[in-house]
Amino acid sequence: MAKTHFGERELESALLAEGGPLAAPRPTVDREKLQHHLREALKLLHVDLDNENLRETPLRWAQSLITLTSGYDYTDVGKLSTLFRQACESTDDGCQNLVVLGGTYKTLCAHHILPFFGRFIVGYIPNKHIIGASKIPRIVEVHMRKLQSQEHLAHDVADTIEAILDPLGLAVWMGGRHLCMVMRGVEQESSFMETNVLRGAFLRDEKTRHEFMSIVTRRGEQA
Ligand SMILES: [Zn+2]
Repeated sequence: MAKTHFGERELESALLAEGGPLAAPRPTVDREKLQHHLREALKLLHVDLDNENLRETPLRWAQSLITLTSGYDYTDVGKLSTLFRQACESTDDGCQNLVVLGGTYKTLCAHHILPFFGRFIVGYIPNKHIIGASKIPRIVEVHMRKLQSQEHLAHDVADTIEAILDPLGLAVWMGGRHLCMVMRGVEQESSFMETNVLRGAFLRDEKTRHEFMSIVTRRGEQA
């Protein structure tokens, strides 16, 4: 590869752009080599690549994998938190209300590269800062665009929010359906899993934890 430039500025502006999915430029990925190896992998599985329907599949598969793993361009939590701190606002002193934000996620499991997807709910008690409402889904998106386990995803999201906001308390709930449990192995029909990460006031104070968990019960069921 001729070019090893990391394209840092492009990465930053992709990360902080408002609206739309994370359009990571990924200048360091060798697309042609990836496409070649994916083509070889399909051949090993006796997939007929001359079939009209499959002719473009290695190219499409490569493009989709490049997008779905773009979180690997943003693995430095220190750098991530410095960037996202630009999108934070100061709170009034003494404001210790619980801030709750939710949304959806979809990612690929680290073990089988099959999708799992569902909802997340993040709750935090601000210390000195709050973060713009669109940024928490972006933080989740950065981490979901890697090969993941639900447990790791929830912890990665919590670590990043903690590094940005240093909140008095932080809770991350995730509930998701895992296709690797449905499509292979034991073929379990019930593939719903829940993960909870609780820190600070959510660990110490039962009332705060209860308040968050009752929000999860109300909103998490729409998964
Ligand atoms: Zn799996």
